[in-house]
Amino acid sequence: MHNFPVPYPNELIYSTVARASIYHGITSPKQLLDEVFNNRKVIATLDLPCHLQSLSEQLQSTGRFSLEELIYRHTMFPLYAPFVTEPHRTRAIQLMARRSQGAVHLLLGVAASRVKTDDRLRYCSACLKDQTQKYGETFWQRNWFFPGLDLCPEHGALHLFRVGTADHRHQFHALNVKPETSLNAGISNPDLLRLAQYASKLIDMEPDGSPSFSQWTAFYRDLAVDFGLCRGRHIKHDEVYALVSNTFQRKSLNQLHLQINSATDTCWLKSIFRKHRKAFSYLEHGVVWQTLLPNLSPEEIIKRVRQMKPNTKIFVPTTSQQTAINQDLQSKRQLWEQAVLEVGVTAARKNGTGKALYAWFYRNDRAWLLHFNARHQQVRSIPQQKADWRQRDLMIVRRLFSVLQANEIDSFAPRLSANYLLSQLNNKSTVEKNLDKLPLVKSFLQRYSETITEYQLRRLSNACIQIYRDTGQLKNWVILRQAGLSKERLTADSQRVLAELRFF
Ligand SMILES: [Zn+2]
Repeated sequence: MHNFPVPYPNELIYSTVARASIYHGITSPKQLLDEVFNNRKVIATLDLPCHLQSLSEQLQSTGRFSLEELIYRHTMFPLYAPFVTEPHRTRAIQLMARRSQGAVHLLLGVAASRVKTDDRLRYCSACLKDQTQKYGETFWQRNWFFPGLDLCPEHGALHLFRVGTADHRHQFHALNVKPETSLNAGISNPDLLRLAQYASKLIDMEPDGSPSFSQWTAFYRDLAVDFGLCRGRHIKHDEVYALVSNTFQRKSLNQLHLQINSATDTCWLKSIFRKHRKAFSYLEHGVVWQTLLPNLSPEEIIKRVRQMKPNTKIFVPTTSQQTAINQDLQSKRQLWEQAVLEVGVTAARKNGTGKALYAWFYRNDRAWLLHFNARHQQVRSIPQQKADWRQRDLMIVRRLFSVLQANEIDSFAPRLSANYLLSQLNNKSTVEKNLDKLPLVKSFLQRYSETITEYQLRRLSNACIQIYRDTGQLKNWVILRQAGLSKERLTADSQRVLAELRFF
């Protein structure tokens, strides 16, 4: 075919073939196969297509799109390649170059995997908008097709659907959905979204050789040692389970068909920490990496695995190695201390490494962990109290106003001195000592506490009102007796007012 379309970045090669049919106005699937592949038996395969050599040749004029580039940038191959053996990886590439008749899927373990692939087409509305803006047309994007995930790593929920069945094995369907105005609906499961983001890094990795099974075995063995998950030569599977369950909700693992059950000896999570005899899927590796090494990229991890010495002996701590284990404990303690001092216990428990450390300490060194955390929480509670002064100020003033109101009604209440008002509170001495931090309380006391004259006048006037109502006359000694005051103790101002009252 002349003018075979150039694949867009991250476009599935399936999608490019489908676009070719649109460009050239070819409606018959068989005719398209003839024109593009010169072979009517090609099966339209989304994830791991074959006959790629002929497409690479058709794209020769671009100076790009070698067979390897097509496979690594425009198929799902990189999700499988690092996890199968090197002979399987190279054999799969050979098969994808020409014809395979299903052998690629067998070779890469797709068929036998717990992670189910399905043939539904899928798209992300938000990505469609981006594509239209950038390229003026839409295409099937590779990162919508992560097996088992059904999520766009950038925007979450996808639209999934099946197309008609007639002769569909040979039909390449072009994406001809109009970008919707609405964004993707629903909230995506954060566990699965995290895995989708990990998958999009994995799928963008540069082509490279695969580690051997014994390297994978050694890597997981080392990982268990690093995280204190070994007792002698035995893996503490229960602790591995606890860590994974802390990181991934049960429903997420169920959705991936990667349930974990520590009682089952054949559980994948046990097998991955044992001698590797078969390839594990990108999701099985991903779940463990996201639990234990959330800050490392898949590239960094796989590079580390490639450097593993294949015949690493199984780790058995001797007494001399016990020192190393103690050192490991010390460095773990330091890591936790540092994290807590930086962000506090609660935040430290939430980030990836902190979460794993916390879980580890909780099982191995709980007394130390609880002691350290308790001490630390005390230290942090002081600034919190300081911040409470404003709130306290408001609460105390409210309480003082109600004391004031109750006493004003009571004609014979004692003098409402600052001291008396404060004594009506439960925390008099704290308030007295901290008046500078309580500006509202301070100005309340200045404004509403009674001077001696004000106090005497309140009692005198209340007594006058009562006596006048009862007898119709006001006599000095009757007023003073009723008010509970003696003539000698009256202030000059009070005496003057009393004299005036009597002449009303
Ligand atoms: Zn998207």
